[in-house]
Amino acid sequence: MSPDLNELNRWFDSSDQWLVLTGAGCSTAAGLGDYRDKNGQWKRSQPIHGQPFRNNPVVRQRYWARSAIGWPPFSKAQPTKCHRALRTLQVSGRAPHLITQNVDQLHQKATHQEVIDLHGALANVVCLQCGELSKRDDMQHRLLAQNPWLTTLDANFAPDGDADLELQSVQALKVPSCLNCAGMLKPDLLVVGSSLMVYSSYRFCRHAKQSNKPIVIVNDGVTRADDIASAKISGDCGEVLEALVSSL
Ligand SMILES: [Zn+2]
Repeated sequence: MSPDLNELNRWFDSSDQWLVLTGAGCSTAAGLGDYRDKNGQWKRSQPIHGQPFRNNPVVRQRYWARSAIGWPPFSKAQPTKCHRALRTLQVSGRAPHLITQNVDQLHQKATHQEVIDLHGALANVVCLQCGELSKRDDMQHRLLAQNPWLTTLDANFAPDGDADLELQSVQALKVPSCLNCAGMLKPDLLVVGSSLMVYSSYRFCRHAKQSNKPIVIVNDGVTRADDIASAKISGDCGEVLEALVSSL
């Protein structure tokens, strides 16, 4: 066993129960690209944020046009060994609670129970006017029905289901509205992030630090919480967690 894995095992045994916080690194092996490189820098254009989405119709058209291309492969992604290992840890009782920054619901697909989707889930769409939740799959049917030309396009896709697509004709997109009240529809998620750079997840680490709880990071690259972590295990999180599970 490598020194890193020995260290991880020692830390893991130092507490009866662990809270797990996951990010994009968990899902990269599922083919869902991750937004930040190993130095925590944005690899591509940043994901769409709430305010411009609400205020600018072209931003919404661009989002839904790209999302129409990105959603099918995104929705078909399958859990990785990282998701499976974390589910095994939950079943063992050692890591009962999990909070994820990911919006792909791959933990749920791996049968993980009571997952907290910190940033929401891309599989859901919410009406900003009446609050009604609907399925992203239904939105997809409506998008393609109203914009048949979308089916002829193809593109790479990013972890929020968005696609790298420069559309000349994005402003031609007809964006479906709420079937209940004709209000504006939005993917049911908050700001998408990774690498603990997003403050909303970093705050859990700060809280743990203030409570004198150990923080153990398993990640292949820098995270914002590196400075306050008790231990940092570098490596592929799927491989590392699989090794941890097999040593239990
Ligand atoms: Zn509505």
